[in-house]
Amino acid sequence: MSIDALKINKINYISKYAIKRIPSVEQENIVIDIDNLQIDSMYKPYLREFINKTSNFNFRNINKTLETLNITNIKFPESLLKIKEGDYSIIENEIRIRKDKIDSLYHELFHAFTSWREDSAIGCGFYQEDLGYNIGSSLDEGYTDLLFKDIFNNEINYTVEANIANKLQLILTKEKMQEMYTSNNLIDIVEFLSQYSSKQESVSFIILMDKLDKYNYENKKTIRLMNILSNYLVDIYINDLVIKYQSGMITYTDIHDKLGAFKEEFVKYAFDDKKLEKEYLRSSDYFDITSKLSNDHFQKQLVI
Ligand SMILES: [Zn+2]
Repeated sequence: MSIDALKINKINYISKYAIKRIPSVEQENIVIDIDNLQIDSMYKPYLREFINKTSNFNFRNINKTLETLNITNIKFPESLLKIKEGDYSIIENEIRIRKDKIDSLYHELFHAFTSWREDSAIGCGFYQEDLGYNIGSSLDEGYTDLLFKDIFNNEINYTVEANIANKLQLILTKEKMQEMYTSNNLIDIVEFLSQYSSKQESVSFIILMDKLDKYNYENKKTIRLMNILSNYLVDIYINDLVIKYQSGMITYTDIHDKLGAFKEEFVKYAFDDKKLEKEYLRSSDYFDITSKLSNDHFQKQLVI
């Protein structure tokens, strides 16, 4: 048995930030009375709705976060109106939200409910920051938007980030991804990827993803980045399936279904512009990457 070495993505970004393992904290139930919180009453129904719909999430630190959470409305300057609907400051534990985009409160609540602080380090979800360096912002935003869409049926704003986060979710499974997100477990994502690529490459994947520019979608640079990230994940996925197949965890029929499902989701969320999406679907980049998701290619990976 042998597995093809990953031939692509010699992406070697040096991280100035060493990803931390966040100490695991027990999952909490909400014991705080929402009525008594110092939050404007107009936001409380949203907060209740959020808590109801995410009752299966193992959020940590929520009582502490809720106790001091502040929600205010904000007017962003004209230049930001197209792209900014709200934000969350971990340090201030404050959500600022536009009055006309109040549904975005749900997206920001995911950030608040997954936030943590420890000495000089802070983070939320997959994002970590310490001493001026940070990592995981794009994965965090992309995955947060996926949840925002799945649970609250809202529009995806971080389209390319969500596309890549969705591909990672297909590999890891929804349950694992959700658990890693609520326990701030970026490091286990890197560890997982490191089983099939070098540690350097797996960290580079996260750093490269951070280079996606939410404000500048659908230009060539963004599509090229998406291709590199997608290509890397497809290779990881194939290698993961090979291992699972050879150890008897999945059957050949499972493989067929999984490869098909991955291909089906391949461009999901990434393109707002339908013309550009069509163009991409006809491109050699798309063909080159997704041809790996065929049964034939998978067979070639199995050398018995
Ligand atoms: Zn966000």
